[in-house]
Amino acid sequence: MNTQEIIQTTEQYYLPVFSRNQIVLDHGKGCKVYDKDGKEYLDFLAGIAVNALGHAHPALIEAITSQAKKLIHCSNLYYTEEQALLVKQLAKVSGFPRSFLCNSGAEANEGAIKLARKAGKQKSPSKFKIISAIHSFHGRTLTTLTATGQPKYQQGYEPLPTGFEYVEFGNLQALEKMMDNDVCAVLLEPIQGEGGVHVPTDEYLQQVRLLCDKYEALLIFDEIQTGLCRTGKWFAWQHSNVKPDIMTLAKALGGGLPIGAFLVAEKLAHVLAPGDHGSTFGGNPLACAAANATLKVMQETELSKHVVEIGDYLKQGLLKLQHKFPSKIKEVRGRGLLIGLELTAAGGTLVASCLEKGVIINCTAGNVIRLAPPLIVTKEESEQLLVVLEQALVEF
Ligand SMILES: *Cc1c(COP(=O)(O)O)cnc(C)c1O
Repeated sequence: MNTQEIIQTTEQYYLPVFSRNQIVLDHGKGCKVYDKDGKEYLDFLAGIAVNALGHAHPALIEAITSQAKKLIHCSNLYYTEEQALLVKQLAKVSGFPRSFLCNSGAEANEGAIKLARKAGKQKSPSKFKIISAIHSFHGRTLTTLTATGQPKYQQGYEPLPTGFEYVEFGNLQALEKMMDNDVCAVLLEPIQGEGGVHVPTDEYLQQVRLLCDKYEALLIFDEIQTGLCRTGKWFAWQHSNVKPDIMTLAKALGGGLPIGAFLVAEKLAHVLAPGDHGSTFGGNPLACAAANATLKVMQETELSKHVVEIGDYLKQGLLKLQHKFPSKIKEVRGRGLLIGLELTAAGGTLVASCLEKGVIINCTAGNVIRLAPPLIVTKEESEQLLVVLEQALVEF
């Protein structure tokens, strides 16, 4: 099929839920991807913070191909070495002693919410309330879209699961007012990603932790976008040193293969008993092999350090652009290689103009350019992004 046929066929047969860029991607290498007609793009989105090691990383290819030759799936009725290695490695890098493996971010949050509900019920039958933040994003299943503090994802799907309340992100007093003994969990992204790259103060997260302790509520951090070196540490909570009771991961975990996880503190290790939760595909040896390879590269190359260096470089460049275009760029924010560039107008045309010039970026929350490149991105590639962005801003 040629480009037009692929687009036309997809539009004809796929449910019309995505508004896609009009290009057909075919292959990639490092931070570059290529469309069906051979045009090269610099990828500053990485499949929405997924392709942490870039495209076609040799270690990932080797792990996936050699595992595919051995065993792709066998169900959780049996043990596999890849799964054992992964849960051990997750414990080692995170300090959380146990995890459950699933296939996506939404599933990870769904499992975390189920566990929090069960833990709450064990204390009191009315301890089931979950507080999440306005402008948060936690997934598209019925329960995770309910936890998502944005009505646009909820409308039309009512009745929604009950027991969810929403609080302004970063506003401690507002949370304080909502807390009581019926709250079983507070669910937050340590940096809001989809909502517009909002970074709270360290103090806010520290005070949220204390409030959760006071009311015996669990603190759940959704690190699906922020986790695994994205912000310059293994996990974003390490910046503020506020450890949650449950942490969810997905996106970068498999380096591109679908895999998610929720990790729990020791005190929660036995809340879910045999039969209480499960997944057919979750933790399959192929996805686990990909995750093991991804974590290994992150560790061996000290990827977080690289992320800090490139992230600082990019941010300096973006601040210079803000200085040049004060009427177009309102704010530059973020941590590591999760950077938001708040524009003074809707960002769709800027994204289109960069795409035209061979650079993939993303706009979220209407007017926030979200940069989330592969974590292996170089200074030269960052410079290339800045040059193209500047050209696009002139026309914007
Ligand atoms: C992407 C994302 C999700 C949902 O992950 P899926 O794999 O699309 O289900 C949940 N939470 C956060 C913070 C995310 O960025």
